[in-house]
Amino acid sequence: MNIIILGPQASGKGTQADLLVKKYGLFYLEMGQILRDLVEKKDKLGEKIASFINQGHLVSNEIIMEVLSRFLITANFQKGILFDGFPRNLAQAGVLQKELEKQKAKIDKVIFLQISTKESLRRLSGRRHCPCCGRDYNLVTMPPKKGEICDDDGCQLATREDETPEIIKQRLSAYHQETLPVIDFYRQAGILLEVDGERSIEAIHQEILKDLG
Ligand code: AMP
Repeated sequence: MNIIILGPQASGKGTQADLLVKKYGLFYLEMGQILRDLVEKKDKLGEKIASFINQGHLVSNEIIMEVLSRFLITANFQKGILFDGFPRNLAQAGVLQKELEKQKAKIDKVIFLQISTKESLRRLSGRRHCPCCGRDYNLVTMPPKKGEICDDDGCQLATREDETPEIIKQRLSAYHQETLPVIDFYRQAGILLEVDGERSIEAIHQEILKDLG
C-alpha cells in the first residue's frame, strides 16, 4: 500500500505518518526532514536547499527529483511507502506517478489533513524542537512537562529557522498556490481521503484506519 499524506503546515502530517508507519510497517519518505538533514551537511547542495527553505519557498523540482530518485533506489516496494510532504506541486506529482509505474506500483490513497489557516498559524507559533535529541514539541498541542525544556535531556527547546512569521506567511502562500492543485488532482482521481485535522490525534488516526481497512 502506497500512501501520500498532505495538508497545510502543522496539520499533523508527521504525527499521523508516524502512527501509520508503525501500524503497517511502511517505508517512510519525509521530504522536509530529508532536506533539513541535507542542509546540516553544509556543503554546496545543503546551502542551495537552505536558501529555498529559509525564504519559505519550495525547493526546486530539480533537487527534489534527485532526492526522490535516491530514495526510491533504497525503498522497499513490497512493504509500501508513505510519502509525507511530497508531492507539493503538480510537476512532482507527475514524476512520482511515472516513477511508480516503472515499478508497477501506484498511489493507493492520499490523506488530506484539513485545518484552517488560523489553526495552522496558531500551531506553528507553538512549534519547538530539542536541538540535542531532535524531539518535536508543540507548546499548544504537545507541550513539554516543564517550560521550554526537553523532557528527555533537559536541553532548552529551539524554534526552526523557517518558522518566523514572515517565512511562515510565504510557506502558506506556496501551499495555497502549488499544493492545493495537487490535492484537487488526487480528488479527481478518486483516491483522496479528506480528514478534519482539528480533532484529537487518536480520533484522526482511527478515521484513517477505518478508511484504509
Ligand atoms: P516541511 O517540514 O514539510 O514543512 O518542509 C519544510 C520546507 O522544506 C518547506 O517549506 C520547503 O521549503 C521544503 N520542502 C519540503 N518538501 C518539499 C517538496 N516536496 N518540494 C519542495 N520543497 C519542499
